[in-house]
Amino acid sequence: MNKYDVVVIGAGLGGLTVACQLAQANKKVLLVSSGAGTLLLASGCVDVLGFQPMDSREPIKNPLDKMATFLTENPNHPYTFTGQENMETGLNAFLQLVNRSSLNYQGSVHRNWLLPSGIGAIHPTCLAPLSLANGDLSKGGTMLLVGFKELRDFYPMLVSQNLNEQKLGVQADAVTIDAPAPIGGNMNVTPIELARAFEKADFRREVVKAIKNSKVIKSSGKGYDRFGFPSVLGLNRHAEVLADLEKQLGKTVFEISTLPPSVPGRRLFEGLRQTFLQLAKGRFLMGTKVVDGTIEKGRVTQIRIDTASELKTIKADHYVLATGGIFGGGLQTDLTGKIWEPIFGLPVVSNSDRHTWFADGFLEPQGQPVNQYGVKINAQMNPVDESNQPLSENLYLVGAIIANSDWTRGRAGEGVGLATAAAVIKQISG
Ligand SMILES: Cc1cc2nc3c(=O)[nH]c(=O)nc-3n(C[C@H](O)[C@H](O)[C@H](O)COP(=O)(O)OP(=O)(O)OC[C@H]3O[C@@H](n4cnc5c(N)ncnc54)[C@H](O)[C@@H]3O)c2cc1C
Repeated sequence: MNKYDVVVIGAGLGGLTVACQLAQANKKVLLVSSGAGTLLLASGCVDVLGFQPMDSREPIKNPLDKMATFLTENPNHPYTFTGQENMETGLNAFLQLVNRSSLNYQGSVHRNWLLPSGIGAIHPTCLAPLSLANGDLSKGGTMLLVGFKELRDFYPMLVSQNLNEQKLGVQADAVTIDAPAPIGGNMNVTPIELARAFEKADFRREVVKAIKNSKVIKSSGKGYDRFGFPSVLGLNRHAEVLADLEKQLGKTVFEISTLPPSVPGRRLFEGLRQTFLQLAKGRFLMGTKVVDGTIEKGRVTQIRIDTASELKTIKADHYVLATGGIFGGGLQTDLTGKIWEPIFGLPVVSNSDRHTWFADGFLEPQGQPVNQYGVKINAQMNPVDESNQPLSENLYLVGAIIANSDWTRGRAGEGVGLATAAAVIKQISG
């Protein structure tokens, strides 16, 4: 049986950041995860609060200005338990962590970037990689949005038309080019494949040539202030790809989020994974499921993981549950409408009538009821029962497993992961 200071379960943004920060604090950490979490679906940005009132079309400029009214309307939101200080601490610690690598995130909790989304809506977000932050719409000016015939889920014309109609002070044009070899002609290309192709200098040279030879460039007169691409500008060598395109085009280059799989999300996952491996005195078990955990006399005494030959018991002083909500696998459901937390059997706030689980649209301003389901916590970040009694003093919850953490409601997404991570670090490290 192994003995760790802390076992962190789940490698979404919540679990990865907690594990890295605890490793930085010299703790012996085991990070164990069945998969890579929702980072590979999300934009790679950290949304703290985008809209308040939630059904407003006007994005918030400074999330902290509207936080009090958001929490009055959502008194059980995880931010109520973390407080503003942990939001600031969590975002600053994240910036310090990711910028150890070449990820280069920009921003702060005091200001939202207003980024173009993959359909030309406004995406208000606090922290973004430089390549996405370069697309900030409040800078105004002219932009040419470039798409690829082979990338079927990104339509630059749709993005430019929607941006222009909103009269945001930007003037956007669009061009769709044929991707050069080896992508050209492959009509089922994913963002990840395009990102790999962009790491080759020949590919980039041909892309720039096709843009410069396009009709829209030849008829544009004095040219464009910025060039926008879908977020496919390299994986491991992203910084080099961005710098080279800016050099060849002579202008600022930015990325726009695509549908999944998310290349910026994958870069972030890889960056944090590498950081943990460099820092850790402990281990990272990826592709490993935690099957169950035991709570005795108000403390977790062990968890068991699934290995090829046996169920292996692991013990630690503290346990962090960062297994996400329905999307991440932290909550399980069945046809009867039952929703449960599969590792510790913690009580879940939910509604067993499946007809109430979903709002009509995916990104409804009031959120998705099913995303609100989760485990209740107290100010120590411990799980509590229906009458708010703590269930385990050495088990802490982070991210989307916490009740009322719906990321679509007010667009408070990864900010929840970072604020709850900061609160848990304080509890464990003192
Ligand atoms: C489609 C989509 C788009 C989004 N876009 C944005 C966005 O643009 N901006 C934003 O800020 N937020 C966005 N979000 C929200 C954000 O991604 C999530 O709220 C947040 O990432 C949740 O992180 P987490 O670490 O709590 O959990 P997750 O990312 O869900 O990770 C859970 C982890 O736990 C692991 N796990 C689960 N069960 C077990 C087990 N039994 N044993 C071991 N490991 C286990 C999983 O493999 C996974 O690694 C989006 C979410 C989705 C679904």
